[in-house]
Amino acid sequence: MPPRRFNQPSPLPHHRKRPHTPPQPEAAPLPYDSLTVSVTMLGAGQEVGRSCCVIQHRGRTIVCDAGVDPGAHGLPSLPFVDELDWSTVDVLLITHAHLDHAGGVAYIMEKTNFRDGPGKVYMTHATKGIYRYIMQDFIRVRSRSNATDDALFSESDVLSSLSAIQTVDYHQSIHLPGGIHFTPYHAGHILGASMFMIEIAGLKILYTGDVSREIDRHLVPAEIPLERPDVMIGESTFGTMALENRQDKESRFLNEVQKIVRRGGRCLLPVFVAGSAVELLLILDEYWSKNPDLHSIPIYYGSHLARQCMEVYKQYIHSMNPSIRSTFSKHENPFQFKHISHLRDVARWKDDGPCVMLASPGLMHAGPSRQLLEKWAPESKNGLILTGYSTTGSMARHITDKTGLEDIEGLNGQKIPLRMSIETVSFAQHVDGTQNTEFIEQIGAAHVVLVHGERHQMANLRNQLEKNAKHNERDVKIHSPRNTEKLDIVLRTEHMAQAIGRLASRPPSTSQLVSGLLLSKDFSYTLLDPSDLKDFTGLETSEIKQRQNVRLNVGWDLVKWHLEGMFGGVEEGADKNGTPIIRVMSSVDLKLVTERELTLEWIAGTSSDMIADAALSLILGIEESRSSVKRKTLTLFAFPFTDHNPTVPPGGETKSSNTVDIDRVLPFLTAHFGSAELVYISPPSTSPIKPEDEDDNGDLNEDKAEIEAERSEEDPVAKIDESGDDVKVEVDESRMEAILEGDDGRNSTNGEEQSGKVGGDQEEGVKRPTILVKVDAHEASIDIWTMTTTCASSTSFATRVHGVLAMAIATTTPLNVAFESATGLVSGQSGTPEEGKERNGLESFVRPEGSSTNEGLADEKGDLDM
Ligand SMILES: [Zn+2]
Repeated sequence: MPPRRFNQPSPLPHHRKRPHTPPQPEAAPLPYDSLTVSVTMLGAGQEVGRSCCVIQHRGRTIVCDAGVDPGAHGLPSLPFVDELDWSTVDVLLITHAHLDHAGGVAYIMEKTNFRDGPGKVYMTHATKGIYRYIMQDFIRVRSRSNATDDALFSESDVLSSLSAIQTVDYHQSIHLPGGIHFTPYHAGHILGASMFMIEIAGLKILYTGDVSREIDRHLVPAEIPLERPDVMIGESTFGTMALENRQDKESRFLNEVQKIVRRGGRCLLPVFVAGSAVELLLILDEYWSKNPDLHSIPIYYGSHLARQCMEVYKQYIHSMNPSIRSTFSKHENPFQFKHISHLRDVARWKDDGPCVMLASPGLMHAGPSRQLLEKWAPESKNGLILTGYSTTGSMARHITDKTGLEDIEGLNGQKIPLRMSIETVSFAQHVDGTQNTEFIEQIGAAHVVLVHGERHQMANLRNQLEKNAKHNERDVKIHSPRNTEKLDIVLRTEHMAQAIGRLASRPPSTSQLVSGLLLSKDFSYTLLDPSDLKDFTGLETSEIKQRQNVRLNVGWDLVKWHLEGMFGGVEEGADKNGTPIIRVMSSVDLKLVTERELTLEWIAGTSSDMIADAALSLILGIEESRSSVKRKTLTLFAFPFTDHNPTVPPGGETKSSNTVDIDRVLPFLTAHFGSAELVYISPPSTSPIKPEDEDDNGDLNEDKAEIEAERSEEDPVAKIDESGDDVKVEVDESRMEAILEGDDGRNSTNGEEQSGKVGGDQEEGVKRPTILVKVDAHEASIDIWTMTTTCASSTSFATRVHGVLAMAIATTTPLNVAFESATGLVSGQSGTPEEGKERNGLESFVRPEGSSTNEGLADEKGDLDM
């Protein structure tokens, strides 16, 4: 049989089941390190072209730009799209309608799983307007070129993606689900170009795209946003290169154009359709107007696309610079050129003399500009002026890189002599080194990620920025990640909560603590007064008022005294009907409803529930002591284990002790067996019976039925009264345990002294408190000192009695013994007859000899304080 074990009695056996508050939902753990923002370039990392930047923070994914490399073909022209699960993208932001920033949008939207996710695509209105034409042209040029690769997407893909693209205006804040905000700012560069200030969970990231800061003829230069971003992801196309100033390059450009046409040559200007082309047209048209001798020389814009884009430009005058707007306000359309003609198809155009021809694409990899280059290259009177940025590997770059180049390769593979004059005047609408350094420093982000630049240009700019930062003693980190290299930026973030409503109407003084209800939504925090909750959130609040009635059998003052002992102090008052109230810890009210009824009232809450529980168990504990007093037959036995006490059990060790309340154990045994009484007898000579049977509990009911209830005539308590000994039994807990486990404890350290005639040798003549349990002919005796049970006639009966005794002890161990003993203190101080009774009862504890009343009280007070 496994040893039988009783659990320690519950500290609150009368614990009521209280209606508990519903469990609070646990705050969801943040999916990612809240202090880290990741930037991964899928394109334009240490290169120019196919821009695609992935920003990840706190489980949100934002992609800026989805370009292609205009000089490449097929899949290699795309960014590393396979590196991202596009269904996880929350938003795709397109800065402007250049192919290297927007050319991959249709592919992403139609050929990846982007549409399976929540992601939306945003661009400005003008960008969307140009995007449509530029993509149609892109597909047309690709299909006409000799490239044999598969088309990445079709025109229908472009149209399908177009309908799903959302538009946004400059300075318009868009709030997306999941706590993402973004705002577009002017970026210069081309019509519609924007930088995006993105905010995720309070973290601000500025993605610039391509920017120009120059005041030109039609665009608003890139803005410095008022808010300082934590991270800036900016272009570095020209590195630290300084470009010519505006005036110088315009006059050099116009001189070169004139020189070519005046010598009877054709001037070829390969241009990017949207962007520098418009600026060049504005410059040329203005110059031609001022120089009538040039009117005989036609200027052509050799592209159907150009005509379409010009229509877009005419629509978006309002988003251009003040000069254009003022011209427009004079009822003149600045894009209604007087000296420029559009050519629908260069192939069918009659080439019969000197002219200025703007033709796309700027890189001359295919299309009209390439056709004209191949046609005009062999003649030395013709001239080529390169005005845009030439990406690596493109025909434009090939020509500019190699001085003294004698021939070029035609699209059909033939060699074409290159005799035309070649000049470069950059109208590439990008910031140069000086402008960019100043721009980046004005933005003032602590982390700058350089993108969209060739490696050495990027390195130069990085060095320059780091040098400046060191010089100005500013802590700025410059990063230049390669494609697909994940850059983790660790930031120190501050959590800010905005106070609203009533809280905001009372501005706090310095260092004053403000408390309220903290609401979290999409990573933003709001602090408000709970009473404002409904107004600001539509949520209702309710209070649960708890009420518990308790029968009261002790005096109100005694209740108060006990509560003061436990809680350190209480507030007293009365309700409007005059009912006395004691308020505990400012949260639980005890009302004296009638003389014998107490009501506890409190507003449900974690702490108030606990306080109410404590107060309730305390009150019930007072009742316990009261009930024992009422009987006037106090049978709380105490055996303080001191050498001077004649009732000390021999060998008793008191390292820890439980109190067995005989007064409560007796009725329990009586109820069970019909007869149980306390007597003082000489030690038993029979061997004690140890409990062996685990099934005692199971037999309980049967036993009850079998046993005829018969109360003993004799009142065991009376005897004790006569003896005048009011004692309390203290049981060594370890021995109790040992007994319950089947070892009566006599084999412990002092085993010999306890064995057999326990105490007989040492304590001769001392009668031992014993409980006698009688059922029919059987009589079992329980030795209180040793807690052993014996029965001369039936071992099984002894076993049964012992089992029930253990249960009785477990169930009846009283509450708050400390408080019971402490009641003596108050009764000694007050003089009501009611309390006098209390005192009579409670003072009747046997104190260790030699301890004065005062010392005893002090000890008990000490207990109280625990
Ligand atoms: Zn661009």
